[in-house]
Parts: sequence; C-alpha cells; structure tokens
Amino acid sequence: MQIRIETLRMPPKSTNSVLVSVGNECVIFDAWGKVSDWDNALNNRGYNLRAIYATHGHSDHISAAPGLAEKYNVPWYLNHKDLEIVLPGNSYLGYFDIPEIPDDYKKPLDLSDGEIEIFPGLPVKVIEYPGHSKGCVVFYFYQQGILIVGDLIFQESFGRYDYPGGDGDELFTSITSMYNKNFPDDTIVIHGHGNDTTIKWLKENNKYFKQHRDLPSED
Ligand SMILES: [Zn+2]
Repeated sequence: MQIRIETLRMPPKSTNSVLVSVGNECVIFDAWGKVSDWDNALNNRGYNLRAIYATHGHSDHISAAPGLAEKYNVPWYLNHKDLEIVLPGNSYLGYFDIPEIPDDYKKPLDLSDGEIEIFPGLPVKVIEYPGHSKGCVVFYFYQQGILIVGDLIFQESFGRYDYPGGDGDELFTSITSMYNKNFPDDTIVIHGHGNDTTIKWLKENNKYFKQHRDLPSED
C-alpha cells in the first residue's frame, strides 16, 4: 500500500502533527493549531479527512481535534484516561491565541492497547506508555517501520512529568518497556516535538533510552 506521511508544524508552535494519507484520504495524528489552518492544509492537498488520533490529551496535541471532528463529521480518538486534562488545557491555549475547546466539545472515542486499522489494509499497533500523562499512547506502523511517540521520549531527553497526570516512575517504566520491545533499529521515530530519529539513534544518543531504570534527580 502506498502511504504518504508528512510531519506538519502548525502555527504558532513547534508541535509535530503527522498527516498520513492514502490517495486522497487522510488521518491526522496530534492535531495542534487552529481548525482554520487545518482547513487550508487539507484543502491545499485535496484531502478528505477520515479520523484524528491523539498520542495524549495535552492541549498542544489536541487543540484542533474536537473542532475538526465536529466540522468534518469524523471520529477522533484519545485514551480516556486523559479526558480529565482536555478542558483544563484551555488555559494554555489562550496564551497561544488558539480558540478554547468548548465545554460541550465532541467527545473522543477511547484508544487503548491493541491494533487499529487506520485505512483498510493498514494496521497500526497502539501501545499505552503512561507517565508524561496517564493516557499516553504510541502508534506503531509495523508494516512501514514508523513509530509516532508523542511526548514519551525526545531526541536526547524525555517528556516532562510535572504536568497534571504526569508521573516520573511511570514515565521511566514506560521508556524501559519501549526499549524492551526491541523495535527494529531502522524504525523511524516521530517525536511530538523536535526532529525525527530512529531506534538505533536513540540507543546511541539518548542516555535515558535503555534497559535499566534511571530516575534523574533533575531535568
Ligand atoms: Zn505533552
């Protein structure tokens, strides 16, 4: 299957949103930014939106998701352990001049450990890795060798755990679990912020990506 994967940095901040398309059909992973900017991005490409997926519920990963889901009448997906942080995140959106998520926002469908089919014949594994928030998941395109990890781990650091729902013990347990999954070395890792890496690159350059738990006292 010919799939196209684009990483977009919607204004005004550098969260990585991932647009995955097959033909004219597309899905979004982590719809940061404004609905109107996404309208333009989709129209410019001639894409039909089918669904939206979120790695977690922080507002810089979901700000446009409920609005797009409602406007295009498509589902959006979020691990329900993160429902409790959706509306509190509004305080952050005002700071970036992004419209707040309304109290009666379109609710997401749940997303948990297992396998989903984002297009017919395109299976993706969902793996729960809590710690950065309670409901963090990663998406593993095992046929393509691509892993979308949100804010679990970055090029040389890890997701912070001092936001509501964060837990340092859980985060490092999750990073260890990810390490122990033995994803192939050439798997492309798309992070929630910053540049893409590979599993091999993380093993060689990210000192937190290893088997033994290592709880730093600061960072
Ligand atoms: Zn986050």
